[in-house]
Amino acid sequence: MSPFGLPRPAALPAPEAAILARLAALRAGDVPVKGGRTLAYVYDAADSGLDALAAAAHGAFAGVNGLDMTVFPSVVRLENDLVARAAALLGGTPGTAGTFTSGGTESCLLAVLTAREHARAVRGVTRPRLVLPATAHAAFHKAAHLFGLEVVTVPVDPESFRPDPAAVRAALTGDTALVVASAPSYAHGVVDPVAEIAGEAAARGVLCHVDACIGGWYLGHLRRAPEGADLAPFDLSVPGVTSLSVDLHKYGYTPKGASLLLFRDAELRRHGWFAHADWPGYPVVNATLQGTKSAGPLAAAWAVTERIGTEGYTDLAVRVHHARTALADGVARIPGLRVLGTPAASLLAVAAAQGGPDPFVVADEMRTAGWYLQPQPAAAGSPANVHLTVTAAVAAPETVEQLLKDLAEAVVRAHAHGPVTVDPAIAEAAAALDPDRVGPAEVALALDLAGIGDGALPDRMAPVLAVLQALPPRLAARLLPEVIGRLYPGVAAA
Ligand SMILES: *Cc1c(COP(=O)(O)O)cnc(C)c1O
Repeated sequence: MSPFGLPRPAALPAPEAAILARLAALRAGDVPVKGGRTLAYVYDAADSGLDALAAAAHGAFAGVNGLDMTVFPSVVRLENDLVARAAALLGGTPGTAGTFTSGGTESCLLAVLTAREHARAVRGVTRPRLVLPATAHAAFHKAAHLFGLEVVTVPVDPESFRPDPAAVRAALTGDTALVVASAPSYAHGVVDPVAEIAGEAAARGVLCHVDACIGGWYLGHLRRAPEGADLAPFDLSVPGVTSLSVDLHKYGYTPKGASLLLFRDAELRRHGWFAHADWPGYPVVNATLQGTKSAGPLAAAWAVTERIGTEGYTDLAVRVHHARTALADGVARIPGLRVLGTPAASLLAVAAAQGGPDPFVVADEMRTAGWYLQPQPAAAGSPANVHLTVTAAVAAPETVEQLLKDLAEAVVRAHAHGPVTVDPAIAEAAAALDPDRVGPAEVALALDLAGIGDGALPDRMAPVLAVLQALPPRLAARLLPEVIGRLYPGVAAA
């Protein structure tokens, strides 16, 4: 019997093939990670040989523990190689230092932690602040939450979705530990005025982080080609930029669990490290948040970047650039749709034009047609829209053409369907609730309202998103864990 009193499934080990078949059956319910029909979360270089190499490298290092680099010197070499490659691409100089992390969120968390520790040690800041354009990634809010910084938000222009450098300047105080600029932002794919923001930061002696998690690898290679010739500088070469995050598991097309955090120098990086020598176990030096960490993602990232190489990445970036341009032009020709801002990278945010369809209904209709476009609720001056992350697999000409054709048809169906609305009286009642005092009854009511009372997520997400969007953001944040919590209800009674 298992600890929960359930009979063990079988006395004999299940055959390998049967285990793998069960995993494959589970995957069948997911959106595909290959093939270019999933335009968020996944990055497909459309190269099956690459997948095999990545899997082999991953497997060979899966059991290697990056916790102790003194007994696994291979991880030191792999990490130093990747940092050197990224520094060469992104404006590093002799002295540029870096850390391999598990992903963009961890890179952003460590950038903030490092800045907090630096501000305390060097400037005596005890109540640190984090200055963020409204479009900065949610990972920075997570960092402020975890590490006790106060967020100061700078609004962005409602057309360009970029912050005004003068407004950033006005937000900087003696307590500011860090200011962030995105290159580009996730939601709209626009690049912040990095040089201006970094200049303001430097003038006040404040650190400046460039979040190039999604765009750094892509833009760094694109600008080697004529297609990227007029990109404004956004990397460590810009005066005042003190750290930069760039994900390999996005446009490096490496398996997930791979990002880099670069610092102007090792002295700055050291402020974020944790060391401990006062317990009975091994001496601890952690550059990241994890303790034990598999070297699988590190080795896979090393192998994939070696194999694709600078020229290969440049080709991939150029293909994606042309696909993104064709998609943006195509979207602009579909009556009822418009692209938000001026996307500088490989991302598009598609909203309704005047009299256009409900973007969430468009997303549902696209889902029915076999595509995943990511709904982005209205926030911080940005209207409701759907997000498209364009990767090499999307860039196949027939895929771009099919996507635009299916999108135009989805818009027609979304018009026929009409927008999903929320009863204003209910929205008003919800707005009056205090997020800190919402009890189980209010939660149940709100979830029923969104059509997810019974725990399962509905096929069509537009009604859920409409409710979410109608709520004050703090209340929405209070309810979201309840929605997700119902997917993980705990162990059922026998
Ligand atoms: C993806 C992303 C992050 C967070 O990265 P994860 O790898 O998802 O943790 C941070 N910033 C930007 C701009 C991103 O696109």
